[in-house]
Amino acid sequence: MAVALELKPKDFRSDIEPTWCPGCGDFSVTSALCTAYSKLKLDPYRIITVSGIGCSSRLPLWLKTFGFHSCHGRAIPVAAGIKMAKPEMTVVVTIGDGDAFSIGGGHNAHVARRNMDLTLIVMDNNLYALTKKQVSPTSRLGMKGSTTPYGTLDEPMNTVRLMLAYGATFVAQTYAGNPRHSGEIIEQAILHKGFSFINILSPCPTFNQDETFEYYKGRTENIQEVYGHTSLGDKAKAFELSEKVMNHRSDPNAKVPVGIFYKKAQETFEEKVAILKKRNNGSDNFDVASLFEDYRP
Ligand code: SF4
Repeated sequence: MAVALELKPKDFRSDIEPTWCPGCGDFSVTSALCTAYSKLKLDPYRIITVSGIGCSSRLPLWLKTFGFHSCHGRAIPVAAGIKMAKPEMTVVVTIGDGDAFSIGGGHNAHVARRNMDLTLIVMDNNLYALTKKQVSPTSRLGMKGSTTPYGTLDEPMNTVRLMLAYGATFVAQTYAGNPRHSGEIIEQAILHKGFSFINILSPCPTFNQDETFEYYKGRTENIQEVYGHTSLGDKAKAFELSEKVMNHRSDPNAKVPVGIFYKKAQETFEEKVAILKKRNNGSDNFDVASLFEDYRP
């Protein structure tokens, strides 16, 4: 019989000291993630944390779980491959906004519509920080970066609405300045059977002087508490609330919504694959020779 693990959040931390700048929001995300792993009584040997490239993507190094620091924009396909090979593992992807919505943006649609049982955590600091401040898909209009000295001309992406449209079965936003809320949302996301997406607003005090901890202070509103959004399968309401995600960019009095926008039970990709295997008498092996027969003249 399996024994329930009683590990503390610190037991999920490796001996490697994070190299992030003092005050980086990603410290808080790491703490929230370890708290969630601890509360869910997960076995570190049954977790793999996968990242791409960027400041936030160093996160797996600071953990005692399995980890995979992959290529820029390719954390999601790597995680999907791991999940297919090892469906019993808890697979969590931890990447930044540039990695997730620029170079790797094409993967989101497919992992969401397949409803693979993965958790995608995006640490959204609204820029590329590792390469010293270039604008990202979530940068505010007009933001000046090292390659956009006159300010970006591109409208920022509403990533919550995007993931809803892609068919993600769990969509949430939270804020690094509230690690308790972030931890609770991560717990819910990992428990969700299927693809879960969390956008975590994670300030970069070194390069982003707009979306700072000071900026978010008193500006977030919990959509479960303020709007009574508890019918989480109501997609129309989720879309309506997602409109509020960007309002603070143009209206200084607008709040930033946090909480779970959408959650729906739906068959996962892995469950569908298991049904296919059953038809093949439970075997992973497929008789390729029989396929070739179809092409013989
Ligand atoms: Fe964090 Fe910004 Fe420093 Fe990168 S540059 S470690 S995102 S504070």
